[in-house]
Amino acid sequence: MLKRKHLWWDELSKDEILEDVKNCDVAILPIGAIEQHGPHCPCGSDAYNAKGLAEKVAERTGAMLLPLLQYGSHPYHHWYMPGTIPISYETHINLLCDIVKGAAVAGYKKFFILSAHGQVAATLVAMNKLGLEGHFVLTCHWYDFLRDSQNILETPMTHADEAETSMALSLYPQYIDMSKAVDDGGESLINPDFQIKPGMTPKPGQMYHFEGTFARPEYKELKSGVIGFPSKATKEKGDKLVETAVDLMSQVIEDVIERFPAGVQPPVK
Ligand SMILES: [Zn+2]
Repeated sequence: MLKRKHLWWDELSKDEILEDVKNCDVAILPIGAIEQHGPHCPCGSDAYNAKGLAEKVAERTGAMLLPLLQYGSHPYHHWYMPGTIPISYETHINLLCDIVKGAAVAGYKKFFILSAHGQVAATLVAMNKLGLEGHFVLTCHWYDFLRDSQNILETPMTHADEAETSMALSLYPQYIDMSKAVDDGGESLINPDFQIKPGMTPKPGQMYHFEGTFARPEYKELKSGVIGFPSKATKEKGDKLVETAVDLMSQVIEDVIERFPAGVQPPVK
């Protein structure tokens, strides 16, 4: 349960942080991306999605919110797309490790890296490096909590699509212009049956989207920058996505708190 007066680390004094960590030593690091999201959504969409979800999870669980990391790392095919500012995997991994190590100095012992952008390649490496040093870190991508869209969506989760636009309409409608939303997409270089889309429950023989060079460069492939069906997005769908993801993310944190109460370091090392 939230006991401190502000949600975010950067809004609190050192003494307020040191007091709050006695109540709850779980810290959430929300990470997004600065990436073009078509003509109808802002380039900060992934960062705003991570921020909005993290705030609701913190309100429910009492977890500390580490300052939002707006920049993210990107697969090769996102680079050179106007509007997108990728950071390299190496930079991203180092940032994640440094942030967790810095927050641990104040007594935080359980870390939850909450990503609303496909950057598993960086978060998994960071998590393993931190694990070697004894840090307890869970890395969660929002689509882990929305498998098969929980019967809320009509189409699979992709990019600037029904899912992301619905969530945007729920969390930051002031930045969305639905009159500009167009349905679009690229073509996979392999049979899409062998690929798992984000948020899709895997079937035998399917590879995750980060396991191969499945795509042509987006700057050559995509006209609008959209992959999917933003025309199907609604605020009501977004509200349900937010509610579902926040509930499941909070359950994971509540389970960790129950197993390892404040002050107890999970025995990673
Ligand atoms: Zn996105």
